[in-house]
Amino acid sequence: MSPAAPYNPGDATSGDPDALFFVPLGGAGEIGMNLNLYGYRGQWLIVDCGVTFGDEEHQPGVDVIMADPAFILERRDRLLGIVATHAHEDHIGAIPYLWPQLECPVWATPFTAAVLRAKLVESGLADRVRITTVPMSGRFQIGPFDLELITLTHSIPEPNAVVIRTGAGTVLHTGDWKLDPEPMIGSPTDEERLRQVGDEGVLASVCDSTNALKPGASGSEGELRHSLTELIGRYDGRVAVACFASNVARLQTIAQVAREHDRDVALVGRSLWRIEKAARDTGYLGDVPRFLTEDEASRLKKATS
Ligand SMILES: [Zn+2]
Repeated sequence: MSPAAPYNPGDATSGDPDALFFVPLGGAGEIGMNLNLYGYRGQWLIVDCGVTFGDEEHQPGVDVIMADPAFILERRDRLLGIVATHAHEDHIGAIPYLWPQLECPVWATPFTAAVLRAKLVESGLADRVRITTVPMSGRFQIGPFDLELITLTHSIPEPNAVVIRTGAGTVLHTGDWKLDPEPMIGSPTDEERLRQVGDEGVLASVCDSTNALKPGASGSEGELRHSLTELIGRYDGRVAVACFASNVARLQTIAQVAREHDRDVALVGRSLWRIEKAARDTGYLGDVPRFLTEDEASRLKKATS
């Protein structure tokens, strides 16, 4: 009896040639460093390629951590590309680090593409990486994968689920999501399209939503605006608000609250400025006046009460 050939997922020569493979190299069952692979008919697609951050206690001195790409590097000649669901670091942050090994095209919606381009400029790869911009709710084909984006809500503009249709069936890969009826930026979750795809039939849903296993609902960005308006209205002095740099809806909320109280807003930090530029370049923050620089803010007259 000859020994069985080594099992080689996704290779048309082994196992069921029509099998659809999901191989998460990172990000499944953990927060951060998403790197998901789908394999069909011997060809591979990456969905998201992100980092996680080292913590001082367990990884002292380590800034970023990413999934080990060895599995896909061994199959690089059959790697079709990367689809990015949204622009968070744990979904696109590893692209500048791993791209020189992966060397494949990238697909993303306009805001995600703008954030990624800015990162690639910083790492000197902007001229080498081909990024195809896909519209929101876009449908496009990559090799044997028929892909469709469905708009979700999250804490960054343009969060997308990816419907991955193949000859073997359909997988709904959500990326990150929450259900926010008032996201402040972008449209609410396209529940109707999700229902239609569900009715078509889905083999599996690969979902990612922090705290999804805890009962209850997460707050809406819309509700937060009311409490921030009230809170900031209580003070005369300067108010510092911390937030994730990528939370463009929060920038818009803070700008609106500032307007209601006749205040100016200054941005502090390189990431915030980078995200703000990507947002304005792709049509967001249109009704928000220019933010002040730290230098300009330092010259503002302090309120006297
Ligand atoms: Zn996210």
